[in-house]
Amino acid sequence: MKTHSVRQKNIAEKISPELAISNWKDWKWQIRHCVRDIDTFEKLLDIRFEPEERKLLEKTLEKFPLSITPYYLSLIEVEDLKNDPIFMQAFPSPDELIVSKDDMHDPLSEDEDSPVPGITHRYPDRVLFHVSNICSMYCRHCTRKRKVGDIDSVPGKAEVQKGLDYIAAHPELRDVLLSGGDPFMLSDDYLDWILTELRAIPHVEVIRIGSRMPVVLPYRVTDQLVDVLKKHHPVWVNTHFNHPREVTYSSKQALRKMADAGIPLGNQTVLLSGVNDCYRILKKLFHKLVANRVRPYYLYQCDLSEGLTHFRTSVGKGIEIMENLVGHTSGFAVPSYVIDAPGGGGKIPILPTYMISRSTHKVILRNYEGVITSYKEPESYTPVYCDRNCEGCKLQLKLDDAPESKSVGIAKLLSDYEETLSLVPEDTARLERRGIDG
Ligand SMILES: *Cc1c(COP(=O)(O)O)cnc(C)c1O
Repeated sequence: MKTHSVRQKNIAEKISPELAISNWKDWKWQIRHCVRDIDTFEKLLDIRFEPEERKLLEKTLEKFPLSITPYYLSLIEVEDLKNDPIFMQAFPSPDELIVSKDDMHDPLSEDEDSPVPGITHRYPDRVLFHVSNICSMYCRHCTRKRKVGDIDSVPGKAEVQKGLDYIAAHPELRDVLLSGGDPFMLSDDYLDWILTELRAIPHVEVIRIGSRMPVVLPYRVTDQLVDVLKKHHPVWVNTHFNHPREVTYSSKQALRKMADAGIPLGNQTVLLSGVNDCYRILKKLFHKLVANRVRPYYLYQCDLSEGLTHFRTSVGKGIEIMENLVGHTSGFAVPSYVIDAPGGGGKIPILPTYMISRSTHKVILRNYEGVITSYKEPESYTPVYCDRNCEGCKLQLKLDDAPESKSVGIAKLLSDYEETLSLVPEDTARLERRGIDG
């Protein structure tokens, strides 16, 4: 088997025989030479697909386009191509044409929760801000597959300004997530402009950027880019490693640059059948990430977007993986396993069951080894009944001028000061009989 550096050299020579290594590491050169068709893919990797298979692949590309950076291409090991985790994430499969009856066009209802183009406002205090609709590599498992390759939809300043105006007009928004597409596809100057505008909004406390560049094109993380980011602190970066093979020398360099610039790093992994649905693979990945100062943040159950059927695992697989991580390794190497609720309900955390029973005085718990233990509730705890009258409370929450927020959902049922007794679906037959129909 060829080493990674030999593979890089082979690919570089085929793209451009006189290429110097400095060009290979130039991210703009990489983007100019992204692999966008099957011929080039075959040529660069010295492989051939059967004519029948090719026909199906071409058909797949008509629906969901292809783009792979030469760098990410060089991580593919052709010896066991069809099972290669890099190949599976980057190269189309005719299975993408299978539409299962449970698939949805926009499963997370991002379009419905969009008050202005580019903004998804789902949670009370934070928004997703899509500042780019393009990526250097099109992940085959992309939840926004429906939008991939909308060439005309790279938002210009006027459109981005509408998003900025929306954020400025909503003082409750303290956290803005730049997403896409990949925000690092924008030029340093454009990104600098967006970050400057966001920083000028007083209520924006934290800016987050979601980018897969450290994985698919680590050369994008230049000193200049990092200089731009660190001018606007606090800036957090979340990236997207799915397999330990993606943690290379170059990706480590990119992570180191950002961590050294004081950028807290997180990672979101998607659980993918045939790629990483094995707790030993994921444990290895999470260990490599924390060794590079990246905190595993979320492990996502694969969404119900069209074309992802072949990537979906059971939820049971996810729980089995969590069972093999919690307690077995460092707490900060264990991400939260979440299902992004279809219909726009947001991320719902899933864990194995650890609290197995309780009485008035005791809680019965089990640990990762199977030890069943009891925790005695305190006898002396004097609960504070909260009437939301913080001035008269001995706990020292200094409210400053923070807007008073109301409890919602289950928290509302739990609260002492709310009269609400129950949350009731609008469409029960019982309510219809009472004549209170929604
Ligand atoms: C994931 C997501 C967020 C951020 O959620 P966190 O749990 O705070 O990371 C915000 N808005 C939308 C629409 C999201 O999908």
